[in-house]
Amino acid sequence: MLTGDAARESAKPLKISQSVVDSILSYAKMSHPKEGILLLRGKASMDGMLVDGVVIPPSATHGHGFSSFPLGMLPSALSLVGVAHSHPNGVLQPSTEDLNHFYGRIMIITAYPYESENDLAAFNGRGHRIRYTIF
Ligand SMILES: [Zn+2]
Repeated sequence: MLTGDAARESAKPLKISQSVVDSILSYAKMSHPKEGILLLRGKASMDGMLVDGVVIPPSATHGHGFSSFPLGMLPSALSLVGVAHSHPNGVLQPSTEDLNHFYGRIMIITAYPYESENDLAAFNGRGHRIRYTIF
């Protein structure tokens, strides 16, 4: 059972564009067997959240793990709503480390084999899965 912030967060609709889904899946395939990281652009409002673009991190740290990503270097002018990264081990769940380094409002994880949106899931800062629709 969700309480407080988590419940409110989960109740808000999350929409992800088809092109963002495709970009995350193909970037993950390209990075495999290393982990790929993409920044998520979008808009958050009272009504929910929209993810409509991806940005390759300024100093992409392929293969060094999500935790070493230099979040302090993020360009603040971009409307970033979170981070997407891949799990080459096929686990479609955030690790403890992922949650400790949570950035923004949502985290998208795609797990090997990165074939479709079934290999992709969105989570909030508490590691709860957020339902999303593709537009
Ligand atoms: Zn991870």
